[in-house]
Amino acid sequence: MIRSYKKLFENNKKWITDTTSRDPKFFDVLGSGQSPQFLWIGCSDSRVPANEVTGTLPGDIFVHRNIANMVIHTDMSMLSVLDYSVNVLGVKHVMVVGHYGCGGVNAAMGNKPVGLIDNWLRHIKDVYRLHEQELDLIDDPKAKSDRLVELNVAEQVFNLTKTSIVQNAWSTGQELLIHGVVFDIHTGELNDLGISVGDNSKMDYVYKFDMAPALT
Ligand code: ZN
Repeated sequence: MIRSYKKLFENNKKWITDTTSRDPKFFDVLGSGQSPQFLWIGCSDSRVPANEVTGTLPGDIFVHRNIANMVIHTDMSMLSVLDYSVNVLGVKHVMVVGHYGCGGVNAAMGNKPVGLIDNWLRHIKDVYRLHEQELDLIDDPKAKSDRLVELNVAEQVFNLTKTSIVQNAWSTGQELLIHGVVFDIHTGELNDLGISVGDNSKMDYVYKFDMAPALT
């Protein structure tokens, strides 16, 4: 683990040398603009970096990270990232990426106040309450935490589909899939939860927007 601030800049110089020796035009292409196909909404946890775990490079993934990969409808930062990536960059896939052993999820399962962050974690407690019957049947704390991580990802995928940004894209025929994914910090595996959604046909009526038909 790196502890020296200075080391980051030494590593940066080495990275530039390595990258340009592999691909002399890499930074010319990088500097000319971005057209990523993926938006990654992940946890801030240092162990779950989007590019490294997917073997991708700068330019491949647009990223928003917060504690416990939440999609909160009043979060202007998340909404701005979503709007820009869908409507300007035209990403085709939005991935909500949770991870087992998530400190935010574990803190939300407990009853100890931890400060300002309690206000953020309360949204995860709401997810717990929605799935209380299933979760209360799990005795093992780790298994319970793992399942809440998965359920939390599923709820955040659902939260994305509720937004006017996503529903508007769908109503105009824009190709846009929302995926739920969990990263296993013990094995390095990224697992798709099989809950991908690409339209609002199965959405509860109350969340559906009647978007104006696209102008032709
Ligand atoms: Zn986390």
